[in-house]
Amino acid sequence: MRVHVADHPLIAHKLTALRDKTTDSPTFRRLADELVTLLAYEATRDVRVEPTEVETPVAPAQGVRLSAPKPLVVPILRAGLGMLDGMVRLLPTAEVGFLGMVRDEHTLTATTYATRLPDDLSGRQCYVLDPMLATGGTLTAAVRYLIERGADHITCICLLSAPEGVAHLESELADVDVPVTVVTAGLDSKLNELGYIVPGLGDAGDRLYGVV
Ligand code: URA
Repeated sequence: MRVHVADHPLIAHKLTALRDKTTDSPTFRRLADELVTLLAYEATRDVRVEPTEVETPVAPAQGVRLSAPKPLVVPILRAGLGMLDGMVRLLPTAEVGFLGMVRDEHTLTATTYATRLPDDLSGRQCYVLDPMLATGGTLTAAVRYLIERGADHITCICLLSAPEGVAHLESELADVDVPVTVVTAGLDSKLNELGYIVPGLGDAGDRLYGVV
């Protein structure tokens, strides 16, 4: 598994504002959206393209276009939804599937409560959106689910990650032969006893959408 911590002053600037507890929900949503577009640029470095030719007003030119099948963007509900617009802004022709996963606050284990995905993901590059890679349970379950359906290349985009989550993902996915990459804006120091990333940014879902 490859982990790429995006190192860019604009990303660091937006992440700092996201962390700030005085940032309100509308501003948090806008910043998350902008941050995802910047991360998407890094995350799509390996997106598959094929050669094509176009006619410019002057002469024929060689170029590339995205290959079929189209990439699939998979936000993990609910907080991953706050990353969707920022992602498809860069990949407007991607298809979007949904994975609803919830974490038991006591056992910290993830269960799937809703899916809306193509049955067959053979040959698909998948971009999984989950703002917080904390214990890694949710992301591990999501990645395994996509691989079982045939995905052959997976990139997880996370606003923030904890070392424990990265290690969990790495050990739980050691047996898979599908390339998995995590692209994140920051790797924080640890998880606290409640499973929150420290210093983190709090509960991403609550900060995006308010406490339900
Ligand atoms: N989920 C969140 O929203 N925040 C954390 O810090 C950890 C998991």
